[in-house]
This record gives sequence, C-alpha cells and structure tokens, in this order.
Amino acid sequence: MAIHVINESKRCLQCKKPLCRLKGCPAQTNVPEMIRLFLNGNINEAGSMLFENNPMSVICSLVCDHEAQCEGNCIQGRKGAPVQISSIEHYISDIYLDRIALTCAPKTGKSVAVIGSGPAGLTVAIKLAQKGHEVTIFERKSKIGGMMRYGIPAFRLPHTVLARYQKVLTELGIHFRPNTTIGGVIALDRLFDDGYDAIFIGSGVWRARGLGVKGESLGNCHYAVDYLQNPDAYNLGDRVAIIGSGNSAIDAARTAIRKGSRFVTIYGRSAKARASRREFEYAQADGVEFEFGKGVHSITKDGPMLFDRHFDEEGNLTSEDEPVLTPADSTIIAVSQAPKDKIVRSTTGLTVNDRGLINVDETGATTRKGVFSAGDVVMGPGNVVTVMREAKRVAEAMETFLMECD
Ligand SMILES: Cc1cc2nc3c(=O)[nH]c(=O)nc-3n(C[C@H](O)[C@H](O)[C@H](O)COP(=O)(O)OP(=O)(O)OC[C@H]3O[C@@H](n4cnc5c(N)ncnc54)[C@H](O)[C@@H]3O)c2cc1C
Repeated sequence: MAIHVINESKRCLQCKKPLCRLKGCPAQTNVPEMIRLFLNGNINEAGSMLFENNPMSVICSLVCDHEAQCEGNCIQGRKGAPVQISSIEHYISDIYLDRIALTCAPKTGKSVAVIGSGPAGLTVAIKLAQKGHEVTIFERKSKIGGMMRYGIPAFRLPHTVLARYQKVLTELGIHFRPNTTIGGVIALDRLFDDGYDAIFIGSGVWRARGLGVKGESLGNCHYAVDYLQNPDAYNLGDRVAIIGSGNSAIDAARTAIRKGSRFVTIYGRSAKARASRREFEYAQADGVEFEFGKGVHSITKDGPMLFDRHFDEEGNLTSEDEPVLTPADSTIIAVSQAPKDKIVRSTTGLTVNDRGLINVDETGATTRKGVFSAGDVVMGPGNVVTVMREAKRVAEAMETFLMECD
C-alpha cells in the first residue's frame, strides 16, 4: 500500500533540535518546517523552500540513503518506525517541480560556462542563472543528468524526472550544448577567448577502475559504469558474475536481472557488502545472490577465477585459498571509478592530485584563475546530496568572483 504522506507528516514531532536535519541531512534540509508548511496547506512554499535549499530535492527524495540520513535520525524511529521523510519530500518536490516559477535577478552582463550536467553542473547553473548571469552548459552526452541518468538505473530514478529539469533550465534562460566535449574541438582555454568570465568543471568520474588482472579485455567482460550507460547494448547471457559489492555493483546486478539474466551473483572482497543496507536488501529481493570474501585471480571466457579469503573475528585477512573457476557467461567489474583526464590534459594551469581529482581551494577555485570545480571530479565517487551541497557552496564563491572581476 502507498505511504500516506499526510498521516506520516502528522507523526512528525516538530523537534526543537531536529536531528533529521542537523545530524542526518548533508543538505541540512529543514524537515520540520517542510512538514509544518505542508500540513498548513502551503505546499508551494514548502516546495520553494526545498528547491532553494537543494535544487536536487526531488531527486534526493528518491536516491538518498535515507535510512542512514534523515530517517535514520528521526526520534520516532527510536521506539517504532521513523517518519517517512523521503516520501513527504518527494510528494512536495515532485508537485513543485511543475509549478516552479523561478525569477532571475537583472542581467549582470557576466557569462559562465558550466562543463557537465550532473548534479554539480545543474546546481551551479541554476544558482548562477538566478543571480542574473548568462549560463551555458556544455555536456558530452545528448541529455542532462550525468550519473543520475547514465548510472542510476531508471527503475530507481525515472528519466522523466530529469526531463522535467530541462524545462527549468529553459525557463531560466540557460543555454544547453549537448554532445559537446570540452577538451575536444573546444578546449577550456577557448571558452575564455570567447568571453566567458568564469568556468565551472563538474565532469564527474567516468573512467572505470580495472582490477589489473589478466582477462579484463575479453569480449564477455565489462565494466559496470559502461554497462549502466546503455544496458540494452549488451547481451550478458544467463549467468552473470559481478565483481565488487558497492552501489554500482548492485545497480548492475539488478539491471541485469531486469534485462533477462537468470543467475546473477555479486562477489565481494570483504566480509560484507559495501552498498547501503536498503540496496543490498532490494537486490536480494530481486533474486541477486551474494558471495563474500572472494578475491579475483583472473577473468576467463568461461567466468572469473576466484579464490576464498578468510578473516578472523576482527575482520583481518588470515589466509587465501587457490583460485577456482566460477562459471559465468559474462563478468562485470564494479570496483570504482576515476576521472577522465581530457579536460586537464588540454588545459594549462589546472592541477590534479595523485588520484586524478582536480585540486581546489576551500572555495572551489582550481589552480587556474576563473576556473572552479566541485562534485565527484573533486571528491571522488560520492552521492547526489553531497555533490549538490558542495556545488552550491562553490556557486556562491563564483558569484563573488564574477561580481569582482572586470
Ligand atoms: C551506478 C551508480 C549508482 C549511483 N547511485 C546513487 C544513489 O543511489 N544515490 C546517490 O545519491 N548517488 C548515487 N550515485 C552517485 C551520484 O550519481 C554521483 O555522485 C553524482 O552524479 C556526481 O555528480 P557530478 O555532477 O559530480 O558528476 P556526474 O553526475 O558524473 O556528471 C558529470 C557530467 O559531466 C559530463 N562530462 C564529463 N566530461 C565532460 C567534458 N569533457 N565535456 C563536457 N561534459 C563532460 C558527463 O557526461 C556528465 O553528464 C551513483 C553513481 C553510480 C555510478
């Protein structure tokens, strides 16, 4: 049965020190205020408050790890079920997204180039357009959303939600250049030549990390980050072995099941899954099998060669067995991602750390004047709400920079 958000809202105790907000939410969403406005019949005001604080609110209501964040800190949860904050936020933000009437400050005459349309790029673009700057988003793909569209599967985050953001961008007068890779025909330096006053890089982490074992180039071995971009392009067969136990591994496994593979097993290195508890449980419910304490020796055309890893009670590795073939039609590697280096290689004065992540100061300014950055390309693989929070902070620094530059 569907959650009744009005009943759920009435269960909120309106805590004076709301831990859902103060301890639970990386965006510090004012949950009691949201619920108070909603119950008082001011849904638009509630939606506006949520959007101003977090332009990705409707998306966060679907994909945040609520059990570890707002709902995990709800006082009601100490004795029974926590208030379903995510459902209430979703109800409000979903309605508001179509009613949104954003106003922009008078034109400043300044223009900003935003590279990437994931949550980082979208947040910066929306915030700076609202301040009256002319914003153009450059996106390598044909559609907006970044990993929210090409990583998180549509059964968790419907693409229709992202399509509705396109309308918000249009209403704010934001230009969108799809299928345009910065660092290709157009290098970042050219953006300054063409008159942009500031540039934001929110290009994310799209290079799959390999295992460094023999067999990764075989025809039936794939990387989760590639597979999830377009699962219909793959024919995985019946039996799929997934290496890694984080959220990308779970998404790849649940997608493979939905695309017809019948025996999908996740093999994790450590003694338990790295993914959130909810994702783990849903995968089990979908029929995904899990095996933990598995190391990878190599990949063969008949499946991965795996060995057992043994741990003591404190979780320390004590011994490893000999590798054995684990039969599979396809193997998917889902261990992590790193940034691609196209922009950095083609730009002067931009430095990265030893993981290839862009170096920034506390304001989000890179080592190149006028170029700012935030999101996964700075922090490494993260989540939507943290990326949004950091991008919002950097947008404020960019606003100061823009108002001070000639
Ligand atoms: C499989 C998977 C599942 C996930 N599940 C969740 C979840 O449930 N909840 C959650 O909160 N987070 C989840 N995340 C993480 C979340 O999606 C990311 O942390 C977030 O999208 C990163 O935002 P970003 O804006 O920094 O980068 P991205 O979302 O990666 O966006 C970067 C954009 O830049 C574009 N780009 C890159 N290079 C260039 C270039 N040279 N020129 C032009 N454009 C370029 C890319 O095409 C992309 O659109 C998941 C990630 C993955 C991979």
